Amino acid sequence: MATRTIVKIEDELCNGCGACIGPCAEGTLVLINGKARVIREELCDGAGFCLGVCPTGALSLEQREAPDFSEQAVHEHRQGIKINYVPQDCSFCGNSEDNSYLMAVKHKGQALWVCTRCLPRLIHG
Ligand code: SF4
Repeated sequence: MATRTIVKIEDELCNGCGACIGPCAEGTLVLINGKARVIREELCDGAGFCLGVCPTGALSLEQREAPDFSEQAVHEHRQGIKINYVPQDCSFCGNSEDNSYLMAVKHKGQALWVCTRCLPRLIHG
């Protein structure tokens, strides 16, 4: 145990969309009863890749007492995961990431997903 950076989830803001599940390389985040949860604190490295995709601002990083991050625990945990994402849809045309490539973009504080087919109109207007 030490004071370190770790993800914090504001329950009231989480809408259960699941957008944060995929970007977490460690498989730390899961949905339980419609809310994002840190399944085990030693799996969170505090990198914060989940923050940028949250559409509601429910995720942040904080400094607090937590078990040390464990690469060994991540390795063991990931071997038991069959699927570690909740498929997201393009915010513009609705294409699923299961059928197309999606990228996370931010606009005026909003977190959006855009597929490669819709990206040109974002770039060129
Ligand atoms: S991205 Fe944000 S709102 Fe969606 S499940 Fe994760 S914490 Fe909740």
